[in-house]
Amino acid sequence: MTIKMTAENASWPKEEDPIFAIAERADNAIRDLGRDKVINATLGSLYDDDGNLITLNTVFDELKHLRNDEIAAYSPIAGNNDFQEDVVNVCFGDYKPDAYFRAVYTPGGTGAVRHCIWTYAGASDPVICPDWYWKPYKTICDEFEREFITYPIFDENFQYNVEGFEKTFRENLKKNKRIISIFNTPANNPTGYSISDDEWDKILDIIKDEAKDMENRITILLDIAYIEYAGDGSQKKFFKKFSNLPENVFVLVAFSMSKSYTAYGLRTGAAVGLSSSQEIVDEFFYSCSHANRSNWSNGVRSSMQILSNIYRDEQKSKSYHEELEQARKLLERRAETFVTEADKVGLRIFPYRGGFFISIPTENSQEIGDELEANNLFAIALPKGIRFAVCAVPEDQCKIAPKIIKDIMDKVEKNK
Ligand code: PLP
Repeated sequence: MTIKMTAENASWPKEEDPIFAIAERADNAIRDLGRDKVINATLGSLYDDDGNLITLNTVFDELKHLRNDEIAAYSPIAGNNDFQEDVVNVCFGDYKPDAYFRAVYTPGGTGAVRHCIWTYAGASDPVICPDWYWKPYKTICDEFEREFITYPIFDENFQYNVEGFEKTFRENLKKNKRIISIFNTPANNPTGYSISDDEWDKILDIIKDEAKDMENRITILLDIAYIEYAGDGSQKKFFKKFSNLPENVFVLVAFSMSKSYTAYGLRTGAAVGLSSSQEIVDEFFYSCSHANRSNWSNGVRSSMQILSNIYRDEQKSKSYHEELEQARKLLERRAETFVTEADKVGLRIFPYRGGFFISIPTENSQEIGDELEANNLFAIALPKGIRFAVCAVPEDQCKIAPKIIKDIMDKVEKNK
């Protein structure tokens, strides 16, 4: 007889990560058939046209020039002191809201999402999110027994479903008077959508309306993992809208170095807390420092140092931004090509505003995904559609992929 050793709260199905599994199958196909015969649109990392991971030299030159002790020493629990200050400036750019801030190191944006869900929702409190979402939000909610609730992301015109948000937000806030609302924007994973300024105004009006009840505790979790790939700088303007919020509205920005510094494996990000009250950001800081200590203790010193060294040196900062812009433009070209071709062949996709992914809504995603794979196009079948990682696919393949997808979708749908 086999016995079960994991405690009830930590018992999960024995399953491999499906995205990494299909990415491995795509790699095998490339090995067997050659790169030109296979479209690998699976993984959310930027690759060049030869299939090599794009890495920003400014970032990795800096890493290689750090002294051993700058890499080896423990950092303070909340992160290097310079990093705590610099990451706020890097995060908001020219559009710092009128508010108090503090930042705490986290291992990637994931750590910041984790801290938010643990710290600002209690057991069975609701965490609301659009129905096209990055899966770890739910994984974390499951782990901590928070109630994860979704609403349809778009209305019938493929605009942000503010009405759906409002209904879900107001209804669920009533339950325990505490809620977290997740927004992964700009350049949402997986849809490529960015909430517009007008949509933000409406969303914030609804939030401020509920904040009139001083018993309510409202947290906005703003996941900006792809922000640097969502425009040429002005995409950060919306941050200004978080100025002078009511005290019972707290904003936690999940900042990540994974995409914006191509530093995925260095596991560095930050939880940036924002409030109109100094006391509330202090409370945030000490609570998240405690969570750091209990989960991973100190952070990765070298990557924090890299961010500060680049931020504080004019020349390095210039090179970094030039390299980043090059990567962003490459992505933009690929996405434009895909969008144009999709339009030509009549493939209906979600409105793309930036980031690593384009998504195609369909109710038959698994069958279509399987059929695409049989035709050597590897993309991710999500519950409500197909996610195509433009970040990983050369422009010439972005040109041919929409027709392949359209033909297969038509075939699968015809056989239904
Ligand atoms: N948020 C979204 C939507 C993501 O897609 C990712 C990475 O894929 C992250 C956050 C955080 O990544 P990391 O923990 O590597 O910073």
